[in-house]
Amino acid sequence: MKNISYDIAALLLLFVLLHSCYIRRMTRGISNRVFLILTYITIASTTFDIVAVSLDNAQSSNTIALYVAHFGYLLTHFLSAPTYFMFIVSLTDTWHKLRKNIILQGVLLAPLIVMVSALVVNVWNQLVFSVENGYRRGPLFALMYIGTAFYVIFSIAYIVRYRRLLGRTKVITTGTFMPVELAAMVVQMIHPTARLEMFGGAIGLLIVSVGIQRPEDYVDSFTQLTKYSAYVYDMKRAAYNHKHVRIVMLNLSNYQAIQAMIGFDYTMQVLKEVANTIREISKKTYRFVDLYYLDNGRFRMVFWGKGYDKAESIAEMLNQELKKGFNIVGLDISLTPFIVLADYPEELADFKTLMAFGADFHLRNHYTGRIMRASELYNQNQLNIQNNIDKIIEQALENERFEVYYQPIYSIQQGKFISAEALLRLFDPEHGFISPEMLIIAAEQNGTIHRIGEFVFEKVCQFISSEEFQNLGLEYIEVNLSVAQVMNGDLPENYLSIMKKYNVSPDKINLEITETAAAYEQEVMMDNMEQMNQAGINFSLDDYGTGYSNIQRVIQLPLNIIKLDKSFVNEQNNQKVWIFLKNTVKMLKDMNMEIVIEGVETQEMLDIFSDLQCDFVQGYFFSKPIPQNDFIEFISNAN
Ligand code: C2E
Ligand code: CA
Ligand code: CA
Repeated sequence: MKNISYDIAALLLLFVLLHSCYIRRMTRGISNRVFLILTYITIASTTFDIVAVSLDNAQSSNTIALYVAHFGYLLTHFLSAPTYFMFIVSLTDTWHKLRKNIILQGVLLAPLIVMVSALVVNVWNQLVFSVENGYRRGPLFALMYIGTAFYVIFSIAYIVRYRRLLGRTKVITTGTFMPVELAAMVVQMIHPTARLEMFGGAIGLLIVSVGIQRPEDYVDSFTQLTKYSAYVYDMKRAAYNHKHVRIVMLNLSNYQAIQAMIGFDYTMQVLKEVANTIREISKKTYRFVDLYYLDNGRFRMVFWGKGYDKAESIAEMLNQELKKGFNIVGLDISLTPFIVLADYPEELADFKTLMAFGADFHLRNHYTGRIMRASELYNQNQLNIQNNIDKIIEQALENERFEVYYQPIYSIQQGKFISAEALLRLFDPEHGFISPEMLIIAAEQNGTIHRIGEFVFEKVCQFISSEEFQNLGLEYIEVNLSVAQVMNGDLPENYLSIMKKYNVSPDKINLEITETAAAYEQEVMMDNMEQMNQAGINFSLDDYGTGYSNIQRVIQLPLNIIKLDKSFVNEQNNQKVWIFLKNTVKMLKDMNMEIVIEGVETQEMLDIFSDLQCDFVQGYFFSKPIPQNDFIEFISNAN
């Protein structure tokens, strides 16, 4: 007698899982949908198994019923492996890559076609199984296991190939599904009467659901649209995979005004109405659009594949609809929906630009009521800043608008923050945030760099001499020097006198010179560095790996710390970059240098570089550059 109690337990578990997927609204997006399909398939095969086993146990002579039950079981059971593979592909969002590769498609489809065909023709030849004198496996039954093994191996290969993209949690959870299944399969092989396979499958699905499908990461509770964090994740992944998308960006220009007028609760009502409108309008293309609510009245619709060409007309409809406004409990609320259409990455070339542009285009541009293209606005903004940059800098110096932000630097060995980098910030009242890179380039050309540099250095020294700083227990602050500054003969005198003014000890300062500066064959630079080094100031080499520095020259310079450029951090999937990183770190360690990794954004990256024996880590994972007061609070809480 075969025992069906595990099957029944599996079925109960699967229904609970299904229910939880629906109440947690894990039904949108491809990976959620494939997961649902997988759950349904497992429910179907468990049900077929229960029927088949019951008929077997009753030694039923109803061959048609027996045949249908076993056929259903085998078909659905062996469909789950390819579906699982589809789930992994969805998680990495690499469908568009598979779509391009016809050969790979053929290879991936072939086993499925063989398995299904073998089952279909089994009606006539009974080579897979027969039910005439009770259920029996036929000579071709092994095909089903071979087919399954194929998809399992492909899934594992895929997980390994995209392990960094998936991240540790996803790798572990998707990876445990298979050993759990396998263990159940082995037990069932040894004890064929215990029907454990389906139960194993159900447990595996549960693990995946708990580990990966975390709605709090994805769904905004007011609008029921996908959240900011998911948008960040999806857009980074799109850039990484070279996936082309068209984004409808909606920022409600008068969001603040609405909130001031009708208060929080009613504003949430407005947001709900907007979300409903967006959902309603995009219903027809729902499979090719993702909907997000970010924050402060900012919505995003991301179209891809077949949705791509519909984006424009849907944006138009949305604009017409939203301009009508809403009536919330008797109040007529009118909206100024600022809508921008952006092809990503064609118009906004990378993730950073996408986010910076999306943050405040509605504040920096005139609202016209018609839909704008991102390239139109973006180029205009950049051009505007570029044309006025000299004036912007002059006014900022005059009105003391420059600020210094601090980004914490973490020591892996000590497990705490030991320093920070000082970074220049400028918020222009007319043009908004101005990127420091642009500022520094312009300031070097118009000569204001020396005043700006001294301003930053003075602010830093002021901070270091404060009691608050001393209480933080930090070792030193990193301050950037531009190329023009290092080449300036007055630098040591100016900087040393500022330090004297604030009574700052030289071991509290680390000056960063860039690799580009180090590449110059310049007497003045060497003199400057030696003078300051003798006064007790240490130097770091910034952006290592981007320039063409001659390692001979690097060794000659009085450097203690090397900062590996952040462009490497996102490249560890690239085998060559990875080899370069590993060897560079080893070489620098052998030369007794300390190493900072910049631009670390995730736990995975942190783990990777900790394993590589790097000393210090700096990046958004810990904190963005933040104002001095926030920085004091951050370090006090963290250390
Ligand atoms: P940098 O010296 O390489 O500074 C690090 C840059 O990386 C900063 O950009 C910082 O915000 C950014 N960053 C930090 N963590 C992450 C991360 O996890 N992911 C990503 N994507 N980026 C991260 P920021 O503040 O825009 O500064 C840009 C550059 O402008 C600096 O690059 C530096 O070369 C220059 N700069 C900034 N402040 C000063 C200054 O006071 N003096 C001089 N001479 N140059 C400065
Ligand atoms: Ca730097
Ligand atoms: Ca750097």
